[in-house]
Amino acid sequence: MENINLNFIYDVTNILNSSYDFNKVIESLRIVFNKYLNTTNFKIYTMETSQNSVYKDIEKNWVMLDDNTQQMFNSFSKKINELENKEKYIIIDDKVCEFSQIQNLDETNNQIYIPFKKYGKIFAFLELENVNIHALKNNMLKTFEVILSQISFGILNNLLNNQMQINIKFYDAMKNIAKIIENQYELNYIIPIIGEMIDRFITNHLIYVFLKDDVEKYKLIWPLSCKDENILKMLDKITFEQEYIISDDKKIAVFPLKSDNKVLGAIVASSNIYPLNERETTYLLQLANQSSTTIARANMYSEILKHATMDALTGLNNRRQFEIRLNQEFATAKRKNKKLCCMMTDIDFFKKINDTYGHIAGDIVLKKVASIIESQLREYDTASRYGGEEFCILLPYTTIEEAKFVAERLRKKVESEKIDISQVYNEQKEVNVTISVGVSEYNEHTILSPKDLYKKADEALYQAKEQGRNQVVLYLND
Ligand code: GH3
Ligand code: MG
Ligand code: MG
Repeated sequence: MENINLNFIYDVTNILNSSYDFNKVIESLRIVFNKYLNTTNFKIYTMETSQNSVYKDIEKNWVMLDDNTQQMFNSFSKKINELENKEKYIIIDDKVCEFSQIQNLDETNNQIYIPFKKYGKIFAFLELENVNIHALKNNMLKTFEVILSQISFGILNNLLNNQMQINIKFYDAMKNIAKIIENQYELNYIIPIIGEMIDRFITNHLIYVFLKDDVEKYKLIWPLSCKDENILKMLDKITFEQEYIISDDKKIAVFPLKSDNKVLGAIVASSNIYPLNERETTYLLQLANQSSTTIARANMYSEILKHATMDALTGLNNRRQFEIRLNQEFATAKRKNKKLCCMMTDIDFFKKINDTYGHIAGDIVLKKVASIIESQLREYDTASRYGGEEFCILLPYTTIEEAKFVAERLRKKVESEKIDISQVYNEQKEVNVTISVGVSEYNEHTILSPKDLYKKADEALYQAKEQGRNQVVLYLND
């Protein structure tokens, strides 16, 4: 009757249940294997996906195995898959043997690979070296079998968990790309979000987003540069009819962004090392379709808004309207020799809000700040969204001292407001922002044009940022 080493099994089971971090699990398993089997080496290789037979060291997820090792695993897989399925196999010094043959070994310095299978397909290998065969022979073959099946479950769980995380990220990306559009229509703002979203989700490949310009040439919009000539060559091959094109080695794939009947641009995934697998390809195809819709809608939206005076997100005047009002108010102030102030505000560290809580939360903050600004103004004042998170306020018949008072009151109000972003989180969540403000005053001697008035306010704003933010700075004419 064979002995079973319950302690060994117990230790392994405990480790497998102890952590979600599989690298930690492996480290602990290594110690236990060393203790019971004296082995100096313990590594797990898993197959990247079922499609392309790429193996990875589970602990070094980012590092590609060299070609020889890769080929070795593929040839092991092939050999074992050709054999009868019922038997358990093991690879000893490159030879495929039945599992029980492990007992016939004499030496202790063999390199052993143990394949793990599911539904008859190999999904991982365990690598061991210098196993103390003696220990196995005497009392632990059955124990070893139990342990291997435990580890097999552990690896599978880990792989499934990883896949699930990827699925979640995919649905998140789809949802977010669909949602961006709600109030955004500037492609220069939308494309980087799309790029970032996809980039976060596709880990092994660089993501590029191109749009066609007026003369039908592909222009890189995200990220800042693309030096790969092959990508540019592939872009020229896209036609409207193609779903996507992929290079022979599957390392570069181009997914056209299409609207009604033309190609708007393309999303490109590229890697020097990894081929794109089928699953990633399907994901990217869907993301490209979603992005196409978003971009097409943004284009349509911006066409409609060309004639609008209002900013769609905040309901304030848009920049065009601001410029018209600035000219009008400037002319009036000049003609009637009246006071006029201009206030530029910019949210402090706004990028951090987007990065920490997402762009949708960022939009909520923008809307809230806009509504606070509106609530603080008087009848004649006009507030506009100048761009991004910058607002411009015109205060006719107002001295700079009065404007300072308004600006301070506004700054304090924003600072004290808790902004509810629960709708993004599905749980109670509030954020807090501050603004910096620059104020300038019309003066017939030094401020000669509407542009001057705006520029001086902007200079004061810049100074407020320089001096530490969350403050009001006046541009004082001398
Ligand atoms: P600073 O205190 O120097 O102003 O820091 P900042 O992080 O606010 O810097 P910056 O002004 O450069 O960042 C503005 C950010 O605002 C970058 C851009 O992604 C974001 N943004 C611009 N427009 C929108 C928008 O409509 N919605 C959202 N959510 N973010 C926007
Ligand atoms: Mg800012
Ligand atoms: Mg800014």
